[in-house]
Amino acid sequence: MKKIALLGSTGSIGTQTLDVVRNQGDIQVTAMAAGSNIALLEKQIREFHPSIAAVWDEKKALELKAKVADLPVKVVSGMNGLLEVATEKEAQIVVTAVVGMIGIRPTIAAMEAGKDIALANKETLVTAGHIIMPLAEKLGVKILPVDSEHSAIFQSLNGEHGNKIHKILLTASGGPFRGHTREQMASVQVEDALKHPNWSMGRKITIDSSTMVNKGLEVMEAHWLFDVEMDQVQVVVQPQSIIHSMVEYEDGAVIAQLGTPDMRLPIQYALYYPERRYLPGDRLDFWKLSQITFEKPDLENFHGLALAYEAGRRGGSLPTVFNAANEYAVAKFLNREISYLEITDMIQKAMENHKVIDDPTVEQILETEREVDELLR
Ligand code: NDP
Ligand code: MG
Repeated sequence: MKKIALLGSTGSIGTQTLDVVRNQGDIQVTAMAAGSNIALLEKQIREFHPSIAAVWDEKKALELKAKVADLPVKVVSGMNGLLEVATEKEAQIVVTAVVGMIGIRPTIAAMEAGKDIALANKETLVTAGHIIMPLAEKLGVKILPVDSEHSAIFQSLNGEHGNKIHKILLTASGGPFRGHTREQMASVQVEDALKHPNWSMGRKITIDSSTMVNKGLEVMEAHWLFDVEMDQVQVVVQPQSIIHSMVEYEDGAVIAQLGTPDMRLPIQYALYYPERRYLPGDRLDFWKLSQITFEKPDLENFHGLALAYEAGRRGGSLPTVFNAANEYAVAKFLNREISYLEITDMIQKAMENHKVIDDPTVEQILETEREVDELLR
């Protein structure tokens, strides 16, 4: 029996992880954490029987505790609760599917407790990759990518025995506003931005996909995961989301992973790596698939992607500023407090106002996040 802890069990990645667990039948979920959705968390506890469940919101945690009083589950809350779930002693793999920089401390704690990380929470790697990657090496724990593009790259590296990567070709759907100008995007409303053409995901990442900030975060994620320079990662727009990403080697050979857009595949691959298991669902049918097309990303109108390259090339605390400003702005946009284009404007403003710290500690990363929030408030 494989044992996992799941941070963010009630979200898009969390529920799909539980789908994989349900289908396979040989994984035990020993601990789970959510933000505030205790109605769903209670159902999950009754189905999967974890020994610990964390709820960020303290009041909701107390409510949940009363609801599951008939079960042998410990209910915890806040950051300490999240850390307790991340370090639950039985779990071998911790799936990090919370959204945002909140994942940094639990991810590090899980690694220090000897757990492998199935990493969906890209914001953690973007802001603290310089801490996470050397730590994984030192502790001998694996960082298994869950993000579909990074899983595709990871799969395309199989059997290459250390052959050098010449270039990573990171594919992007281009989102719902592909081909639009900034003027055309000025009036975008929350509902428009939440309509992704190919993937059904959480609200924050869906907005990030529409601005292409998500792709920017993913370039930085690839830089850390696969030890390549920012400029070795080339974004290729491929609107059908069939090719999940590719690796070009020194000899010019390009290896890709293809499939239907289904996050359960990269989740399952991370949980069972290097084994492949049967996965029910749609398969690619190349007789029906008439074409796969490619485009260059539009860095003028999707300025967030250009800013991400700038942040990643400079490094230090600048990726944290990029990410923190985006988290702040997206939350404001989802609350209808700012306009769509202000998201990237805020990222730019925060980056322009920041004095970069090289090699920031976790404390400095979290302090930088507070400073960005302060500046944008
Ligand atoms: P969702 O918003 O759907 O889910 C987020 C999860 O985190 C929910 O379970 C939420 O709980 C929980 N959560 C939020 N804040 C806290 C907190 N403070 N403490 C504990 N739990 C918390 O997000 P996604 O599943 O879409 O994304 C999760 C991560 O995976 C993100 O980093 C995203 O970038 C990445 N990712 C997602 C993909 C996708 O297809 N969705 C694809 C690739 C990467 P509650 O429900 O109670 O609020
Ligand atoms: Mg992705």
